[in-house]
Order: sequence, then structure tokens, then C-alpha cells
Amino acid sequence: MQALLNDIMQEVQPLIGQGQVATYIPALAKVNPNQFGIAVCDTSGKVTTAGDATTEFSIQSISKVFNLVLAVTYYGESLWQRVGCEPSGLPFNSLVQLEYENGIPRNPFINAGALAIADMNQSRLIAPHVAMRDLVRKLSGNEGLLANPDVANSEFEHRARNAAMAYLMKAYGNFHNDVEEVLHNYFYNCALEMSCVDLARASQFLANRGHCTITKEPVLTHDQTRQVNALLATSGLYDEAGSFAFKVGLPGKSGVGGGIIAVVPGRFSLCVWSPALNRMGNSQAGVAALESLTRRINWSVY
Ligand code: GLU
Repeated sequence: MQALLNDIMQEVQPLIGQGQVATYIPALAKVNPNQFGIAVCDTSGKVTTAGDATTEFSIQSISKVFNLVLAVTYYGESLWQRVGCEPSGLPFNSLVQLEYENGIPRNPFINAGALAIADMNQSRLIAPHVAMRDLVRKLSGNEGLLANPDVANSEFEHRARNAAMAYLMKAYGNFHNDVEEVLHNYFYNCALEMSCVDLARASQFLANRGHCTITKEPVLTHDQTRQVNALLATSGLYDEAGSFAFKVGLPGKSGVGGGIIAVVPGRFSLCVWSPALNRMGNSQAGVAALESLTRRINWSVY
């Protein structure tokens, strides 16, 4: 595995730094694009890495996975009355489908869906962003994980589009709490800083039928894990989910910080990170690394 990861890093070297770091969140625009890390965690919890795998980065939309996990544990099947499970085929921050579908977001991994889920968590938890931070600390085994307040505040200052989504859902009766309060918690989740090693470990339960080897505790049931992986496979990479399935063939979730987590069910969880993004908002070198990895060892689930 070590030799394989080293090889892949060599292979994608020309792509590292190619593309654009996300600039719509000003605090993210300052990140050095010439970084690359990868970590693979097996179902016993053993991690293999290459490159900048212990450098922390802003997890951004990858937080939507843990946001969903929290809500699933509180709401179970009833959650799916408020959020759908269809791919959107539109940019992550699009508003249009909300109007056609009576304020029910298409899935939990676009912004509207994650905001509806954050609203559900707000109804059950006194401090949802603390619960989320504690969840990723526990799952990764890294008690030092924190959100970056500069990133969270920068996102809050530029919240207009996310606020518009939340208010539109409120108009349809699918958002119950104070919009600004939910947005504050949502941005704190996006601003969590974790490394490839932390994220590979934190998502290991998804490769292990819901059981976390690090805490030796169940996180989700088998059935819930199957559902989350199915949604990751169909909706985890913004409007590039189709070609990610075509090229890589793994459930995955990306974020505009340049991280991507991916799951090889029954075998491995992995995280790759490189901040420069392609046109669809996914890490350019990250997608290429995952494509090379699954091609070389035939990991695709398809
Ligand atoms: N915090 C970002 C937003 O809500 C998440 C972006 C992402 O990674 O997709 O706009």
C-alpha cells in the first residue's frame, strides 16, 4: 500500500496546484495550492499515508456527511420526509429545485439539504456544532480537532445565498429554527479543520458496516450505512457525481477545501486532499489520484 500511494503521488504531481482554490470564501483563498496528501485506513484502523497527509485543511462540505450521521441517529427513517435522496444535477448551492419541490431539498449533500439537516439537529441539540466537533474527535481519535473561527466568520459574512435557501425552505414549512442561528452552526461545521489521516479514520465506519474500529462502537446500523454510502455514490461530488462514479466508482464526498473522502465498502476508507479545484469544485489532483488508485487495484464498486 505504501509503494502504491507513493507511486500515485508521483503520477499526479503535474496536476498539483492546477486549477483554482475556492475564492468565494475569502479565508480559503489564502491556502497554498501546491499541497497534496492521501491517507488510507483499513477496517482494523491501520492507516497508510503519502504527502501532506497530516496537514489540516477546511473540511467544508465533507462535514455534510457527519451532519447527516448526527441527524440519522436522532431521527431515523423520518428524516427522509424532509430531505430527498435523488441527485440534483445542479450546482451545490442552487435554489431552483427547492421551488419546484415544495422546499424539500433533493439530497443531504447539497447545501439546501445540509441546511435542512442542520435545522433538524438544531431542534434536538443545544449546541449542534459542539456535538459535531465531538463526533469527529471521537471517530478520528484526535481530541484536538477545532473549527477555524476566521473561516466560519468569513462564511457567515458571505451567507446571503445559504440564507436565501434556508428562508425559502422556511416559507415552505421545512425549516423550523432561527435561520441565522442554524447558519452559524452550519458554518462552524464546514470550518472544522482535519487532516487526511483524521478524515480517513473518521469515515472508517462507512467501510465497516457502521461500526467504528477506533471507538469499538456502532455509529450507524448496517442499513443506515448502506443508505449513506448509496447517497455518497449518487450525490457526493456535486454535479460531477456521475463522472466520479464512471471514473472512480466509489461512494465519496468532496468539499471546496479540496478534500475528498471515499469508501471501499468492507475494506477501506480514504481521504485525499489538494486545494486546487476543477470547474465543478472538486480537487483536481484528488480526483485524479482516486481514479488512478481504483484503476490500478480494481477497487471500483461497479
Ligand atoms: N461552506 C460551504 C458553503 O456552504 C460549503 C461548500 C462546499 O464545500 O461545498 O457554501
